[in-house]
Amino acid sequence: MRGIYLHIPFCKQACTYCDFFFTTRGGLKPAFLKSLAAETEHYRHSDWPAVPISTVYFGGGTPSRLTGGEFAAILGHLGSVFNLDQTVETTVEVNPDDLTPGYLRQLKQAGVNRLSVGIQTFNPDRLRFMNRAHTREHALQCLQMIREEGFRSWTADLIYGNPGQSPDDLAEDIETLLAFDPPHISAYSLTVEPHTRLGSMVRKKLVEPADDELVASHTELLVNMLGAGGIERYEVSNFARPGHEAVHNSAYWSHQDYLGLGPGAHSFLWKPDEATAKRWSNKPHMPEYLGKSPNPFGLEELTPEQLATERMMMGFRTREGVKTGELKERYRFDFSSRQLQKILKFNDEKLLVYDGETIRLTGKGMLVADRITLEIISS
Ligand code: SF4
Repeated sequence: MRGIYLHIPFCKQACTYCDFFFTTRGGLKPAFLKSLAAETEHYRHSDWPAVPISTVYFGGGTPSRLTGGEFAAILGHLGSVFNLDQTVETTVEVNPDDLTPGYLRQLKQAGVNRLSVGIQTFNPDRLRFMNRAHTREHALQCLQMIREEGFRSWTADLIYGNPGQSPDDLAEDIETLLAFDPPHISAYSLTVEPHTRLGSMVRKKLVEPADDELVASHTELLVNMLGAGGIERYEVSNFARPGHEAVHNSAYWSHQDYLGLGPGAHSFLWKPDEATAKRWSNKPHMPEYLGKSPNPFGLEELTPEQLATERMMMGFRTREGVKTGELKERYRFDFSSRQLQKILKFNDEKLLVYDGETIRLTGKGMLVADRITLEIISS
């Protein structure tokens, strides 16, 4: 199973908290599309076209800054280079203020079958604080449109743990979203990244980030309210109705091959020995991407031990957990007796459940998933 990720870096404006690679210089779009086409073409004579692609994901930035015609052209070109005959999921990240019924129809016609909508919150003051380009009305209208246009599969992003956000505020966001019967929700706790406007506001003490206790209570509220609505947590930040789990992201977490196109995009590929792999990325730098494409840098050769560690870090965040048999067969990894002792200790503390074959974190364990993984690995 293989996936393709395309990074579309254009945004209307900079969100207060954003640390992704993006540009607000929409005038660069024609040059970007040319470089993206050249990068796609570069892979025509590689090994990639030989293996069917299961998922295509347009992330950003804001992919919905592209027109329906531009998506049709990109997907048409991808289809002429790669084998998309068995592609089951083609996702586009969209922002509410970009959507119209006509645009949604064009996306469908181009072959898009899943949308990821950047709602974040419905609260007008919080949207302004985040410097989102959309309003509460845009958010409500776009969800209504998605419903009316009959997209079977879609997801909405929410951000919780915002400064000054009470559990009641969050409950209102969740209730409003649940009224649209979402098949999938991604919910992220706000992270204060140093090189963002939010980071600078926190440094100047203009804003106080939510404390850990409040974030934990928000998480519990989310899990309970979404669970009661039939939307179960299957990864730390992801919730879905049965059968609507994200195929593309699930493939990342289980170490499937993927190719990243566009500035800042990462790629991952197992080597023919199936014991080691490599990861590389395009520089997150527009002039360089526009100047010479492709521009891979930061090639990393991954050893079986590094891969096993990564698999645990990603797998412990999921409902499926990690199977010791998989670690042994695919990564040639066995837990040491000290590591097993640590696992049993966490089992006693009800942070995880270990049945001799699979290690799964409990809800309590999910709150500290990274710490648990690091403690097990470093034992
Ligand atoms: S729309 Fe997304 S990528 Fe663009 S600035 Fe906002 S959070 Fe960042």
